[in-house]
Amino acid sequence: MSVRDEILRANGEFAREFDRGHLRAPPARRFAVVTCMDARIDPASLLGIAPGDAHVIRNAGGLVTDDALRSLVISHWELGTQEAVVIGHTGCGMTNFTDDTLRRKLVSLGVDASASAIDFLAFRNLEESIRASVRRVTESRLLPEPFLAYGFVYDVANGRLREVV
Ligand code: ZN
Repeated sequence: MSVRDEILRANGEFAREFDRGHLRAPPARRFAVVTCMDARIDPASLLGIAPGDAHVIRNAGGLVTDDALRSLVISHWELGTQEAVVIGHTGCGMTNFTDDTLRRKLVSLGVDASASAIDFLAFRNLEESIRASVRRVTESRLLPEPFLAYGFVYDVANGRLREVV
């Protein structure tokens, strides 16, 4: 079965039991999460988030990029969130390459990835990266003072969160 067929079948079952049509768009618990796209991370289970509770913004590395900041600004000013939680994780693939090695890999495969192309934002130090992301939130002029932000490492081996900021 193709992915397309699998997800449509799963959705059919989901929709049969669906009872969340009453939820409102503004997150009930008024916080946003920024985390990595890593498939092992299930923010809802590991943070106790139910549908309607919080915004979850995901990208490679769980970085507060310009685009993540864009989402946080909308999350706050349009939908009322007051705090952000940045979650990096052990074993993050973003520490396994550098922008340079990835760019070279793409070029070797015939992909146009010249220096002017996108920045992949690879990083070496996980905690430093989380701290920098939290700083981008707290120092943003587009968010009010104070807009609380916390930083955590999620350990993919044991499921625990460890606070770093
Ligand atoms: Zn990751």
